[in-house]
Amino acid sequence: MSGKHALALIALAATSLAAQNIPAHHAPKAPKTLRLYVFDCGVLTPADAKAFGFDHVSELKMSVPCFLVAHPKGTMMWDVGTAPDSDFKADSAPIHQGMITVTKPLKSELEAIGYEPADIKYVAFSHYHIDHTANANMFAASTWLVNQAERDIMFSDKPAPVRVEKNYSALKDSKTIILPATSDYDVFGDGTVIIKQTPGHTPGHQVLFLKLPKTGPVLVAGDLYHYNEERNTDHVPSFEYNKEQSLASRAKIEEFLKTSGAQLWIEHDFTANAKLKKSPAYYE
Ligand SMILES: [Zn+2]
Repeated sequence: MSGKHALALIALAATSLAAQNIPAHHAPKAPKTLRLYVFDCGVLTPADAKAFGFDHVSELKMSVPCFLVAHPKGTMMWDVGTAPDSDFKADSAPIHQGMITVTKPLKSELEAIGYEPADIKYVAFSHYHIDHTANANMFAASTWLVNQAERDIMFSDKPAPVRVEKNYSALKDSKTIILPATSDYDVFGDGTVIIKQTPGHTPGHQVLFLKLPKTGPVLVAGDLYHYNEERNTDHVPSFEYNKEQSLASRAKIEEFLKTSGAQLWIEHDFTANAKLKKSPAYYE
């Protein structure tokens, strides 16, 4: 090999190494005011609404949103999908599992706006059911915000409905803040991101209240309701943990909606969800 040839090869090797040298990830700059991103984390297609106490509802399909709260002091994921990203095959074809359909991996939705799971300070779920915790393990390095009753049933030896422990098992060793059982929890200490306890659907079901500077107050309601038709009725799902608690929690939140003027966002309300801005757009 001539000296010239060898030098060219070395130069080529150096270039390809530089190309592989992926720059260190930098989390997006914290916004100056509160933001809320809504991700599409799938659709549920139940055969009927009988488990929810209805022969007929206006729209049977259920949306499954995931949420990223971006606050000047940090980030929080709220509900993380119904099928784990790891269920996507190499061809990225949509996931179809029974009544579950998911078309986008959550990680890719975060990356599209510049975030990696490691950038997420807090993770919280409305409740432990599979359609709210599927990607929980992705956020095991975040601080988990949960109340004791919910954490207990998540890791209990006794059977519990709609529970897939392998999807959140890594949280067992996560840094965890146990939230008060009855009073509100102010996540960033400025009254703009509040977790409210609403037990019933599960032992420690909770909802998220946000004071968005332009949108105004919003109540992200988890599964306090599934269908809008449940409001102002005593219909609760057949798999409810405690019906009386659910009705009491609903009454408390309906009263809160009146006093706060907050919009109610029923996460599974397909028709309402279809009208929400989806990431990369955001509410502020
Ligand atoms: Zn649900």
